[in-house]
Amino acid sequence: MKIVMLGAPGAGKGTQAERLASEYGLPHISTGDIFRKNIKEGTELGKEAKSFMDAGRLVPDELTVRILLDRVADDDCKKGYILDGFPRTIPQAEALDSELEKLGEKIDFAIDVDVPDENIIKRMSGRRACPRCGATYHMQHVPPKKDGVCDECGTELVIRDDDKPETVKNRLAVYHEQTQPLVEYYRKKGVYHTVDGTADVGAVFDSIRSILG
Ligand code: ADP
Ligand code: ADP
Ligand code: ZN
Repeated sequence: MKIVMLGAPGAGKGTQAERLASEYGLPHISTGDIFRKNIKEGTELGKEAKSFMDAGRLVPDELTVRILLDRVADDDCKKGYILDGFPRTIPQAEALDSELEKLGEKIDFAIDVDVPDENIIKRMSGRRACPRCGATYHMQHVPPKKDGVCDECGTELVIRDDDKPETVKNRLAVYHEQTQPLVEYYRKKGVYHTVDGTADVGAVFDSIRSILG
């Protein structure tokens, strides 16, 4: 089963993808996490991606597609995967589809976690992330068991560089302009589903599960 998570930055794609991954035993692939890991490790890819991310802009398609296609060719992706934050543009979606077509495969579900812009700004200000394992928390809605520390790996949580309000505004504008057209793209393919992302984490998860069957 191959799933694409759609939705604005901060809609809860990562949170849901993580849960789905453990429920269905599929790898959770986040291009944002891959970029952040590379930035932390100081790789060439990280250096290239950083300026775009800090500005709240998208990393160029060519680079992003290359990284993603590489990752989905790994052995653990044979039974499927959950893509979180990819594709973010029509050319990215087309590149993925043409690669899948060669293998006689396709995306089975595109799940759009729908949250209005007003809620996004509020949500992002409370987001805390684990720089080590990528787990995400929210100070009010999804707090870690111990204040400021990751439940999964005990690392101290941080505020992401690109979660500053000005950058979030840019990211939302980029989302509406470049990513939202994917709604039509996947609708035409008959795999598009939307869920109300303003509900609590468990309720959103239940709606997604009922779609996947
Ligand atoms: P969020 O969880 O808020 O949606 P991500 O972690 O998915 O954010 O992405 C963070 C940043 O990484 C994006 O703002 C963008 O700069 C870059 N990025 C991630 N995925 C992609 C992609 N598929 N195409 C281009 N840039 C991407
Ligand atoms: P995305 O991957 O789409 O950028 P995240 O999964 O990182 O979004 O979620 C953004 C923020 O909102 C995080 O702080 C997360 O803990 C919180 N969050 C996720 N889902 C919900 C929800 N259903 N209700 C309230 N807060 C949520
Ligand atoms: Zn962690």
